[in-house]
Amino acid sequence: MKAEIQKKAAGIRMFLFDVDGVMTAGGIQLGTGGLEFKTFHVQDGMGITLARLAGFRVGILTGRKSEVVERRAKELHVDVLVQGVFQKLPSYLEILESYRLEDAAVCYMGDDLLDLPILERVGLPAAPADARDEVRQAAVLVTKKKGGEGAVRELIECILRLQGKWEGVLQKCRAAQSPD
Ligand SMILES: [Mg+2]
Repeated sequence: MKAEIQKKAAGIRMFLFDVDGVMTAGGIQLGTGGLEFKTFHVQDGMGITLARLAGFRVGILTGRKSEVVERRAKELHVDVLVQGVFQKLPSYLEILESYRLEDAAVCYMGDDLLDLPILERVGLPAAPADARDEVRQAAVLVTKKKGGEGAVRELIECILRLQGKWEGVLQKCRAAQSPD
């Protein structure tokens, strides 16, 4: 399994993430008047910044739609944000086309059944520890961390290390160089 991950990780150029259950633990707090709260893990956010520092494209692809996700995406300067798509595959294919990438260049992390069509195509399908059974079975890399508890960071760090980019990223962090 490790050799398979290493081989598939080598060609990854873009990370795509589902939100609920991946970037969050899955909880959705709803208030009146359209108020919605989600909890994001700060270390996942740093992971996304590190991925961008290392030259990866990063995108968010979620079935729900909320302003908090838009805000988080802006904070993290992600390249792509697609919200409110029940069928994720057409949006995924558009992303591939606009960035001129093949399936083999994409690592996607999802936790539920709607993520399967993408997980079954990408070069490196990944899932958090608490993803649904079918999703974990479809994933080549299942993190030890659960969604919203550092799974995103663990995945990004793993790929950066496998591509030999970790030391370079650490040096950039020490130099406090902004990704922008
Ligand atoms: Mg999800």
